[in-house]
Amino acid sequence: MNICMIGAGYVGLVSAACFSEFGWKVACTDNDADRIEQLRRGSVPIYEPRLEELLERNLCNGRISFSTELAPAVGEADLVFLAVGTPMRRGDGHADLSFVFRAVEELAPHLDGFTVIATKSTVPVGTSREIERRLKQLRPDADFAVCSNPEFLREGSAIYDFTHPDRVLVGCDEERAKVLMERLYKPLALRNAPVMFVSRESAELAKYTANAFLAMKISFINEIADLCEAVGADVQEVATAIGADGRIGNKFLHPGPGYGGSCFPKDVAALIRTAREARSPLSLVEQVQTVNSERKIAMAGRIERAAGGSLKGKTVAVLGLAFKPDTDDVRETPAVPVVERLVARGAEVTVHDPVVDRLPDALAPLPGVALVADLDDAVRVADAVVIVTRWQEYERLPDVLTGFDRPPLVVDGRRMLAAERFERYAGIGR
Ligand code: NAD
Repeated sequence: MNICMIGAGYVGLVSAACFSEFGWKVACTDNDADRIEQLRRGSVPIYEPRLEELLERNLCNGRISFSTELAPAVGEADLVFLAVGTPMRRGDGHADLSFVFRAVEELAPHLDGFTVIATKSTVPVGTSREIERRLKQLRPDADFAVCSNPEFLREGSAIYDFTHPDRVLVGCDEERAKVLMERLYKPLALRNAPVMFVSRESAELAKYTANAFLAMKISFINEIADLCEAVGADVQEVATAIGADGRIGNKFLHPGPGYGGSCFPKDVAALIRTAREARSPLSLVEQVQTVNSERKIAMAGRIERAAGGSLKGKTVAVLGLAFKPDTDDVRETPAVPVVERLVARGAEVTVHDPVVDRLPDALAPLPGVALVADLDDAVRVADAVVIVTRWQEYERLPDVLTGFDRPPLVVDGRRMLAAERFERYAGIGR
């Protein structure tokens, strides 16, 4: 089976690498010529555990190729995947579908023989139908079917998630497309991964519903964390107690500085927009968005209070810039609003991240903030150390601070370290 993957970002690259690992032939395309050139040289433009190894193997055995040219890749493909970005549209919070529709226009002239076009990008309900309408207009002669195949992988464990999915979801209204999609995912079905076929509308909406539900869990436990602080309970004990209940589950019950990343903020906003347009507003989800925005803003005040009431002239080391560990993705990372507000309160801020060499421009809008790669350097002269991202490296913080004459205050924004290991410790939700 020949696959064309349009978009070689987090989702496109991981999907392309895993499909080639299944044995399929994948032509991965992107309109970013530098990115394609880099990939051809065997260098991976994003940080994702195990991705380099998979790409190298399949590049060597010829099962994966990279190009900026769509024509041959689409012409030969049985399946064309759209894995381009769907960022938040400025102004109204809706998903910006311009990259999707541009890719559709670009691929249309090259369709040859029966082809399935499947969206891996997260797109609002009705988009598959709209892609179909546009393709029929552009190529009335072409034989194709449009499917929705939303992706549920998580950055940082993307290869594992792709190859061990809780489910593969396919929205499909056409028998020939269903047969192809079944064949595509056979290697996963053989390992007992459920491959679910639903309508295209259900598949599209399920992706947003999943992300909104997870965002709601995060905002919920964050509010409970605040209540714990106010009444003398410990959010970790509360989370463990409720997480033991199978109806609730223990995942996504970790308090923190608010969710960020390239998916939750934009997907929550787009779902709110879809619901309003359908005159079926989601007031609960709207509140989740509000709670999360306020939380990111409130973090600096929380740090200031823990530091005794003023940050003027104090040195603060912020640990973690990526929106979560094991990725170099800084899109909508909560670290940026936290740093901005620490600076506004007069703090001198140094930011550490283990993958700092991949993030040179991430703090460009914040002049005067130093970005360092060495944890010891980051905390050496700090009055306060704030953990924003749960990188495993920060587990060694107690050892790093051992022997300091004047150990800094540690504000554990992720509740990842034991309070007893520090002289001055303030953990969220305790
Ligand atoms: P990304 O920004 O990392 O990658 C998108 C890529 O598409 C870029 O490399 C861009 O150059 C390329 N592109 C844009 N227009 C193109 C065109 N016309 N032709 C060829 N290439 C084009 O984005 P991502 O994080 O991989 O996300 C892609 C989609 O998958 C989004 O809809 C996102 O919501 C969804 N998604 C992302 C994740 C995640 O963890 N990142 C998880 C699940 C779903």
